[in-house]
Amino acid sequence: MLTVTDAFALTQQHRLHLPTETVSLADAAGRVLREGVRADRDFPPFNRVAMDGIAIRFADYSAGQRTFRIEGTQLAGQPQQTRNDDNACLEIMTGAMLPMGADTIIRYEDVSITDSQATITIEDVQLGQHVHPQATDRQAGDELLAAGLWLGPSELAVAASVGQTSLTVTALPRVALISTGDELVDVADTPLPYQIRRSNTYMLRTALATMGIAATLHHIIDDEAVLKTQLVALLADNDVLILSGGVSAGKADFVPSVLAQLGVQQHFHKIDQRPGKPLWFGTKVDQNELTRSELTRDGQTKAVFGLPGNPVSTILCACRYVFPYMRTSLGLPPAPARYAQLAAPVVFKPAVTYFLPVHLTSEPDGRMLAHPLPGSGSADFANLLAADAFMELPPERQQFSTGEAFQVWSTRG
Ligand code: AMP
Ligand code: MG
Repeated sequence: MLTVTDAFALTQQHRLHLPTETVSLADAAGRVLREGVRADRDFPPFNRVAMDGIAIRFADYSAGQRTFRIEGTQLAGQPQQTRNDDNACLEIMTGAMLPMGADTIIRYEDVSITDSQATITIEDVQLGQHVHPQATDRQAGDELLAAGLWLGPSELAVAASVGQTSLTVTALPRVALISTGDELVDVADTPLPYQIRRSNTYMLRTALATMGIAATLHHIIDDEAVLKTQLVALLADNDVLILSGGVSAGKADFVPSVLAQLGVQQHFHKIDQRPGKPLWFGTKVDQNELTRSELTRDGQTKAVFGLPGNPVSTILCACRYVFPYMRTSLGLPPAPARYAQLAAPVVFKPAVTYFLPVHLTSEPDGRMLAHPLPGSGSADFANLLAADAFMELPPERQQFSTGEAFQVWSTRG
């Protein structure tokens, strides 16, 4: 059977190539940049004063002068002024242009002012102090934001500062979340004794929302013909289908056979892991998409994940495979690996990768500790409330000791 590493690689090999779209700066938060942003002018754009105080000529100070006549005031937002008279100074404010004829700023804290005379009260003054010279951070034309960046607070501030009223970002994938199962009823329904309320699609929708992806929710009964009809329509309208349930070996598990009938190419079914062994993944190239004029969806790949229905299996498969898939499909680099140390020993006998639900704590010495949660059976999803992550324990071992570090996969979005 397939290893976790190979299954993950297969999903990544078949990631989506989503088109770009242009959005306003205000709507760009949380999106992925696809066209770099350059500086339209130098950073800073002029010799910018960094302290409130007075502007002097350093040569006067080095010649021994300590008291300067105040010739005028240069505020931020005013055109550049000139310090005219020898031995005079200008009062100057943070954010103002350095006046002509001045090169050094003395803070108000370091001068005493009486009768329009400023006297410097310190003896340690450097040429050019408290001036942020033009172009020292970036030069006009430099690339400030590269394609592939996630647009967060700092990125949007930089884009705003260079006059970028709109940005080119990755178009969001159209995602359908589909629960299957005759035993499942709607959240608002009162289940009969043999029924349960469906929860998986809400879990998946919440996690995708943290990536800025809005998904639609659907439910399909365990009937092969109905499943087929509804999946045809959902495949036509979406880039990604994420199904839950119906991929195991049960008599009503029709998902793999129906997807095959619909021409979705299976890349794998079943992984050597627990929980989540029956995970199914495939892609389809949709010819109809080639004629869609409004979008040029490169490659037109559509992806289908069939997640096992046990809620713990569902979230594990989503965190380990689906969300990383969405991330790189959006054009982001893979998330950096996160590790934690076991806070207690663990024994797991079967020779498969074991994803252990853990609670994470960050210790004062800098370590991240993973506390195993009790009762980690794959149906026991109320325990997920205490879980922050799954720790990935390798298949070739049975005993895992306190202090050993392994990779963790966050369940917190
Ligand atoms: P399946 O993968 O269809 O065999 O389902 C495995 C188990 O997960 C069954 O006990 C289902 O009732 C349960 N299950 C399936 N889908 C959901 C869902 N959307 N929400 C909650 N439980 C589910
Ligand atoms: Mg089922």
